Amino acid sequence: MKNVLLVRMGEIFLKGDNRNFFIKALVRHIRRAVEGTGCTLELTQGRIFLREIEDMEEVVRRVTRVFGVHSVSPVVECDKDIEAICKTAVELMRPLEGTFKVSARRADKRFPMDSMQINEEVGYQVLEACAQLKVDVHKPRHVLSVEIREKAYLYVEKIPAVGGMPVGTNGKAMLLLSGGIDSPVAGYRIAKRGVQLNCIHFHSFPFTSEQAKQKVVDLAKLLSAYAGPIRMYVVPFTEIQQELYQKCPESQLTILMRRFMMRIADRVAGRAKCQALVTGESIGQVASQTMDGLCCTDKVCSRPVFRPLIGFDKTEIMDSAVEIGTYETSILPYEDCCTIFTPKHPLTKPRPELLEESEKLIDGEALIQRAIEGIEILNILP
Ligand code: ATP
Ligand code: MG
Repeated sequence: MKNVLLVRMGEIFLKGDNRNFFIKALVRHIRRAVEGTGCTLELTQGRIFLREIEDMEEVVRRVTRVFGVHSVSPVVECDKDIEAICKTAVELMRPLEGTFKVSARRADKRFPMDSMQINEEVGYQVLEACAQLKVDVHKPRHVLSVEIREKAYLYVEKIPAVGGMPVGTNGKAMLLLSGGIDSPVAGYRIAKRGVQLNCIHFHSFPFTSEQAKQKVVDLAKLLSAYAGPIRMYVVPFTEIQQELYQKCPESQLTILMRRFMMRIADRVAGRAKCQALVTGESIGQVASQTMDGLCCTDKVCSRPVFRPLIGFDKTEIMDSAVEIGTYETSILPYEDCCTIFTPKHPLTKPRPELLEESEKLIDGEALIQRAIEGIEILNILP
C-alpha cells in the first residue's frame, strides 16, 4: 500500500542560509497545497516526505503543481528486513515489463547488508519471481529504488512536477491582468521563477460588464492555484478612456491608454512594494506591441517591466494557456476595455514627444488620482 510520497526539490542548489530559506518556503507551499487531505509532512536530510496519505492521486495532483517541486515518487514502506524488502520489491515489479535495475541506498548504516548486497539480493528475488523482467544496469527502463532509513522505502515511479522555484523567494511583482490569453500565461511564467504576484486590472464599467470583471477574477483564481494567494487591484478606467477619446488624436488612443495603465500600475506597485511590472506583451503581436510601442510604454514606468512572452508566437502562448488551464476562461467572449476604445488605424510607430504633447491636453495627474482612489481590492485565494 503506497501511502508515502517522496518529494524532490527542483532547482534549489543554492548554499548556506539561502538554501534553508528556499526549503522553508517550499515546505510552506507544499503544506498549504495538501491542506485538508490529512497527510503529514516530514523534512529529513533535505528530503521531503508526505505520510499517511489517503488519496494518493489527489495529493500527487496537488503537489506536482507547487513551484519548486521537481518530481515525486509514491513510496511503499515496509519493515527493515531483507525478506520483507524482497517481498515488497516483487509486488512492485510484477506489473512491469522490460529491463530494470535496483538502486539501494543505506542511510541507516546499522543495516547488516551494504547497498551492493541489497542490490544483488533484491535483483535476484525479482528476477526469480518475474520472468518478463531482465536486468540492465546501464540503461534500464525501470529503476527500483530501495532506501534504508527508519524503515525501508521502495519506489519505481517518478512523476515529473512543474519545477521552478518556490513562490516568494524571488520578490514580488505587479501583473497587469486583462481578460485575454496572454497575461495569465505571463503571470504563470514569472510566478514559476519564485516571484509572488499581485494583479492589477483596468475595467471600463459600464462599457464593460460585471461578467467581464468576474472573468478576470476567475483567471486570477486559476493562477493562484500555482502562485498562492493573490492581491488584486481593480481600477476604474472609464473616465481616463473617455477623456482621451474626447481630447486626443484618435490614432494615439491605444498607446495613450497603455501609458496610463502603466503609470497607474507603477504607482500601485510602489504602494504594494512590488519591484517590477509584468505584462503579457510580445513583440509585434498587435499595433501597441511594436518595438516603438513598447518603448513608449516603458518610458512612463519607474520600475522594470518584465514581459516573459516577448519572444513567443501567439500559438505557443495558446498552447501554454491550455496546459496551465486558463485558456477556456480566457476565450469567454466578454468585451475588454481596450477593444471598446480601439482606433481604426492605431499608430505602429508612436513617438514619445507627440504622445507627451497629447497628454498635455488632459489633466492626467487628477485622472490618475481619481482612478487610484476608486480602486477595489480583492484577495484571491486558491
Ligand atoms: P492579453 O491576451 O493578455 O489580453 P493582448 O494581446 O490582448 O493580451 P493588449 O490588449 O494589447 O494585448 O494588452 C497587452 C498587455 O497589457 C496584456 O497582456 C496585459 O498585461 C495588459 N493589459 C491589457 N488590458 C488590460 C486590462 N484591462 N487590465 C490590466 N492589464 C491589461
Ligand atoms: Mg488584452
